[in-house]
Amino acid sequence: MSESKTYRIAGATGDWEVVMGLEVHAQVVSDAKLFSGAATAFGAAPNSQVSLVDAAMPGMLPVINEGVVTQAVRTGLGLNAQINLWSRFDRKNYFYPDLPQGYQISQFQYPIVGEGAIECERDDGSRFTVRIERLHLEQDAGKSIHDLDPSHTYVDLNRSGVALMEIVSRPDIRSPDEASAYVSKLRTILRYLGTCGGDMEKGQLRADVNVSVCRPGDYERFRENDDFSHLGTRCEIKNVNSLRFIRQAIEFEAKRQIDILEDGGTIDQETRLFDANTGVTRSMRSKEEAHDYRYFPDPDLLPLELQQTWVDGLASDLPELPDAKRDRLISELGLSDYDASVLSADKDRADYFEAVADGRDAKLASAWVNNDLFGRLNKEGKGITESPVSADQLGELIGLITDKTISGKIAKDVFDILWDEGGRPADIVEARGLKQVTDTGAIEAVVDQLIADNPDQAASVKDKPKAMGWFVGQVMKAMQGKANPQAVNEILKAKLLD
Ligand code: ADP
Ligand code: MG
Repeated sequence: MSESKTYRIAGATGDWEVVMGLEVHAQVVSDAKLFSGAATAFGAAPNSQVSLVDAAMPGMLPVINEGVVTQAVRTGLGLNAQINLWSRFDRKNYFYPDLPQGYQISQFQYPIVGEGAIECERDDGSRFTVRIERLHLEQDAGKSIHDLDPSHTYVDLNRSGVALMEIVSRPDIRSPDEASAYVSKLRTILRYLGTCGGDMEKGQLRADVNVSVCRPGDYERFRENDDFSHLGTRCEIKNVNSLRFIRQAIEFEAKRQIDILEDGGTIDQETRLFDANTGVTRSMRSKEEAHDYRYFPDPDLLPLELQQTWVDGLASDLPELPDAKRDRLISELGLSDYDASVLSADKDRADYFEAVADGRDAKLASAWVNNDLFGRLNKEGKGITESPVSADQLGELIGLITDKTISGKIAKDVFDILWDEGGRPADIVEARGLKQVTDTGAIEAVVDQLIADNPDQAASVKDKPKAMGWFVGQVMKAMQGKANPQAVNEILKAKLLD
């Protein structure tokens, strides 16, 4: 893989580099909460999905949701990570109105998933690895609503107790592009696994971004011992909820830190918030004000013990993941690295493509899906699941090209008709008389006429075979694009070159 250039920021006193580690919160796909049976649907009326456990009524006891544990383990396996057969839930104590228990149940010392790694792809197509430090399960909090009433704050506890996976990376991320690529890859893997919907607008995935800056060469020195505690002081930007904001927040934060350091100042380790309206980060709390969470094992819950055979069973049932799919599209179907990467980067796109390509010319299918279909979808701002042309329809259309019923050119017209009016490709071709003309007699007649009308052009083809393209175009034009291109070429060659 080509190594892309190191991301550098020029300062007044020389160059700087950035270092990042991300803590991503991913909402687990589950109908019920982590420790209660309450529903988790998005957009429900406030406080309509709150059990007595979620509201922390006295005497209520949490009961672990086995489905969520399964999802966490499957995610760990998808991140090539260590599954810890013994893990434990701890109470993380803090006071906040949207947290009725007065503590969040989380995993601190003994997370369910340990070290792993994923491979990500930069904008330029080059690849890099990000190591995963851990994945643990925890409860989400409720939501305070400040703008409904001028003098009161309301609380919606629908999210209270919803299961989250916190996925912590090592500080292996070295540019805004890489940070966004990492979150994007993580999201793709989670969606393939079906363990998190990944919709950042709905809060299903959000990232805390730790950023520090250092001088060129420093990072590599600390990396040797894999201990970054004395590299640049980091700031943590909380709850960034889009890929674009992640890039913007990092760019702003890195420059802010560089300015301070170049002025002879020091960086305070603090928690900051990114304001998407102004593009700046501002301080939320400093390390001194940081919470003392007084973690201790939750006495209401037993440690979580898993059987290796159960984990093995989940491992053998995992779906094909994006990297494996990309590699297979390349090795088995002969797609280019680029096309295979684009198609495999999104599960819905990959499913659509595979349905189109099933039993058909895969390269042709890839060209149609990547160019014609995605091009039109992008133009109209539609996602693949909203495509007016189904995989079935596109597949049939491609079948008509490969069995030479229609030319590729006519297929574009049929595609447009399918898009606007629907229908079956074969019916459209039949009804509109779009079948390709392979009758060599008809093509020959057109060619003869053209040569007769353009004798000089015809003579020039012998010295300049490229000039034949003009004749091909003219024949196609005369026959409304319906002539079989291969037949046209053969006849022209025979008549002009021999
Ligand atoms: P803590 O012990 O305070 O939780 P960790 O070492 O676990 O801190 O790191 C928390 C997050 O900060 C991780 O995602 C990690 O990759 C990241 N991180 C650690 N050191 C740095 C650094 N120097 N610059 C940027 N991010 C860092
Ligand atoms: Mg830590």
